[in-house]
Amino acid sequence: MKKGGLPRVAIVGRPNVGKSTLFNRLTRSRKALVEPTAGVTRDRLYGRVRTEDREFILIDTGGLLPGEEDQLTKLTLEQTRAGMAEADLILFLVDAKSGLTPLDEEVAEILRRSGKPVLYVVNKVESPKDEEMASEFYRLGPERLFFVSATQGRGIEELLEAILERLPEAPRGEETEAIKVAFVGRPNVGKSSLVNRLLGEPRMIVSDIPGTTRDSIDTLLKTPDGRCYLLIDTAGIRRRSRTKKVLEKFSALKALSSIKACDIAVVVLTAEEGITDQDQKILSYVEEAGRGCVIVINKWDLLDGRREEANRLREAVRYGARFVPYAPIITTSALTGRRVNKILQAIDQVYSHFCRQVPTSVINRALQEIAAERLPTASTGRKIKFYYATQVKTKPPTILVFTSYPEEIPESYRRFMVGRLREYLGFHFSPLRVVFKERP
Ligand code: GDP
Ligand code: GDP
Repeated sequence: MKKGGLPRVAIVGRPNVGKSTLFNRLTRSRKALVEPTAGVTRDRLYGRVRTEDREFILIDTGGLLPGEEDQLTKLTLEQTRAGMAEADLILFLVDAKSGLTPLDEEVAEILRRSGKPVLYVVNKVESPKDEEMASEFYRLGPERLFFVSATQGRGIEELLEAILERLPEAPRGEETEAIKVAFVGRPNVGKSSLVNRLLGEPRMIVSDIPGTTRDSIDTLLKTPDGRCYLLIDTAGIRRRSRTKKVLEKFSALKALSSIKACDIAVVVLTAEEGITDQDQKILSYVEEAGRGCVIVINKWDLLDGRREEANRLREAVRYGARFVPYAPIITTSALTGRRVNKILQAIDQVYSHFCRQVPTSVINRALQEIAAERLPTASTGRKIKFYYATQVKTKPPTILVFTSYPEEIPESYRRFMVGRLREYLGFHFSPLRVVFKERP
């Protein structure tokens, strides 16, 4: 997914050398400023680094997926190749504390064969002894080694300068990435009416483009102030064709694929029916897919002047959707147009939390407080300890918690922790994943 004209820099290296720490450090260094950008794939994290006069995209290839520890070698090599294919410059990160490993040599070999420019960066260099260890990496044959400590910030400004030197000149782009949005819901809840309302607002710029999912058309919507939304699978929604009946047969499947392809699902219900079993199914699919969610109760005009009923309905929906407590609820009328543009505001709000990256230090402080409040009880009676936690990806935000016996932590405790972390870290409007992992 090559996009935009910005140069791209990928951090590769085996697990635990500090890729995500360096990613955070670089995107947060004094001169640079990071913005969440669209385009996080399942295992890669993208950040935009801006300096005074330059800008580039930084890619962290290290998003570890739960349950794949046994495949680390394969995964590392795959991620290296993927990073290489995408990037203009590679940061090959190795670890001074653990020294040169066979996997490092394998990665180096792949990089050499690619012919791409590579900076060799030795991380965790914090003492003269580390420096001695670090020199071992000259065996990989680099012109120069950069010694850094991602946690302490050592050598980072120098590294950033070296990166900028090697990047192709590119103008600072103003392009914003589109938020991918899917409108889903039962037939006749008013999806077409809502989308057509949105697209029909004055000064919106609308263009059709080939779809994200198979055989589909997406619609790019640009607001007057330059915000971009990619409405997924909108062809069927926009043209209210006579073949609608036939289409509906396939619409459930279609909805599933657009949920997979989106960042944020707008789940449309109606004031007429409230929240039905079918609606809950759709919502739980969105939850399982880990997408952001906005709940729209449409046809609110039907409740005009019936305040008590309106309040009761809103509460019923909140309750029926209690397994997605992070989904804001908007009430609209596509018929009158009332509050339809609130949908975009809600999407923005959800998206900002969906893309947020929280520093490890903040997460660990929260972890301590949560552990002090309540610890899980293992079925075996063994003592469960938490060591540390870190956010390994965004979209959805995913926090890895290192612990003594991950498999013995009850599901109820995981839910408790998700709720507490959501509060402490301010992920109010986004799904949040917590994965327990045995301490390496
Ligand atoms: P990744 O798997 O390559 O993304 O590695 P992480 O960024 O998750 O870091 C793995 C571990 O190394 C974490 O415990 C980090 O705190 C630690 N770490 C990262 N950078 C440094 C560093 O510069 N010095 C030290 N001592 N530890 C570091
Ligand atoms: P879709 O199948 O979800 O795309 O639903 P449509 O947009 O085709 O709407 C289904 C029916 O509900 C149409 O007859 C619309 O006129 C009607 N409708 C849509 N939105 C509203 C609304 O906000 N209020 C009322 N009263 N009717 C609506």
